Amino acid sequence: MSEKFVGYFRFLEACDAGGCPVCRCLRDESRSHIDALLYEQVTDPDTRRDVRASWGFCNWHTWMLLEVENSLFGSAIIYEDLVRLLLERVRRFADRPRRRAGWLGWLDRRRRLPRLVELYRRRQVCPLCVSAADTADRCLTTVVKFFDDPDLRAAYARSDGLCAPHMLRALEVNAGDSGARELLDRTVAKWTRFREDIERFVGKHDYRNREPFTDAEAASYMRAFEMMAGAKGLFGNDLGAACDGQRYRRRSGPRGRPRTDRDVAEQRVEEEDAR
Ligand SMILES: [Zn+2]
Ligand SMILES: [Zn+2]
Repeated sequence: MSEKFVGYFRFLEACDAGGCPVCRCLRDESRSHIDALLYEQVTDPDTRRDVRASWGFCNWHTWMLLEVENSLFGSAIIYEDLVRLLLERVRRFADRPRRRAGWLGWLDRRRRLPRLVELYRRRQVCPLCVSAADTADRCLTTVVKFFDDPDLRAAYARSDGLCAPHMLRALEVNAGDSGARELLDRTVAKWTRFREDIERFVGKHDYRNREPFTDAEAASYMRAFEMMAGAKGLFGNDLGAACDGQRYRRRSGPRGRPRTDRDVAEQRVEEEDAR
């Protein structure tokens, strides 16, 4: 019991809430975290330093501020500070240096704005995401560890199962654990049923069909969205990575790397497997 941190019981509850239970836990925990932060830590120096270091919260957590009741005043205090800090940073790097003239001044001006961009790129990770990632890993580790528990098995059987990003993360943080293998088997069984539902949903769109959609078929595409991408907003998007990799847009390997002979060979093996 002592090993089952509070997240275990939240996971059991989340299994009945629909969608990926870990995504649900993280969404609920983030809202509670924001709630506590806005009511108790708005003026806390450590909290303010972390939020400043990350240039504010990530997109997901920023817009989540609107979902927390009575959050506007606390949010406004934090964001007034962040907007002021951004303006200071831009001015510091964009203003022309007064003391240097000639080519030294020209060189300095050329270097300053890229340094501002570099500062932004090296900003800290959103502190709420750091906390959420830690919760996700602890939750996935506990679920794998106690997967024999009858309550957990029954709750997971009722749930929609983990999304693909969380299932793969469970395998990563519990590599070699037999519980992880069992969790995968049970999750794949759920995914297989989703695929059958969505296949029937697509099939029934034939104009000759007169058969109504079942509830599972009508919900199948939403389940497929969450299964593949996680809950809405939770894992962000690939815009940043796409911008970083845009030089290799035409011929790129995994993660935007230039395509190597090995990438080509691996792709050939995958294509042969798929036949
Ligand atoms: Zn998830
Ligand atoms: Zn975040």
